[in-house]
Amino acid sequence: MMRVYLLGTGASFNLTGRLTTALAVLAEDDLTLVDCGSNVVAALVRAHVDPKAISRLILTHEHPDHTAGFPLLVQQLWLAGRKAPLPVYGPRPAIGVVARLLAQYETSRWEGLFQLHFHAIEPEKHVEIAQAAWGRIVAAPARHSVPTVALRFEAHGGPSLVYSADTAPSNDIVRLAAGADVLIHEATGPYPGVHTDGAEAGRIARDAGVRHLVLVHLPADEAAVRRIVADARAIFGPNVVAGQDGMMVRPDVGQGGGR
Ligand SMILES: [Zn+2]
Ligand SMILES: [Zn+2]
Repeated sequence: MMRVYLLGTGASFNLTGRLTTALAVLAEDDLTLVDCGSNVVAALVRAHVDPKAISRLILTHEHPDHTAGFPLLVQQLWLAGRKAPLPVYGPRPAIGVVARLLAQYETSRWEGLFQLHFHAIEPEKHVEIAQAAWGRIVAAPARHSVPTVALRFEAHGGPSLVYSADTAPSNDIVRLAAGADVLIHEATGPYPGVHTDGAEAGRIARDAGVRHLVLVHLPADEAAVRRIVADARAIFGPNVVAGQDGMMVRPDVGQGGGR
């Protein structure tokens, strides 16, 4: 069973209280956290997911709305009693940002602090990030203002999920998402070369042949969000929803169990 928890669904600034976009993928008992711009531990707790169960952190890119919560995440996991090393994956600049952020704090006095194992991803290649008992995680390049990776979670013989990260419309992501059960795609609005609007997200979902489209990284106000969803539906059809903070999605059934 794979479950995806949308911890935050907002763009970097919005007027509706959405947290910055982050998500967690639970497959059997293996928990992957993707991005940490906000207080993701609080969001996990609200979703009734044990933050101590995090198996790995993947940073899609270096922007503050995806990385700024890193020192807080480390502090909270330390206080929660984590002992196991935390593997952290991301494009090299993103790894550099979070390492420098944490270095601003005097962590040598944090007795028993777990180790961080940093792994740089080369975004220009399609690479396998992790193999687990349930399946695997693959990265492909997104098209953004800095090196960014999109991710595919693929269970053995089971459901598949793709997360675009921040990106302009990208054929690499169409290929990465081919036949996926659920595509979680950003729909910030019309920022050519940097972000994606609703119609473009609908076209990517249609071209990739996914079953369901969930929109995240949503803009300033809910009227804009409704327009974005309508634009995506006009191209992809009815299986489009705007993500909400706290929403759970089950890729095997497409849509999940509420907040
Ligand atoms: Zn970004
Ligand atoms: Zn962003």
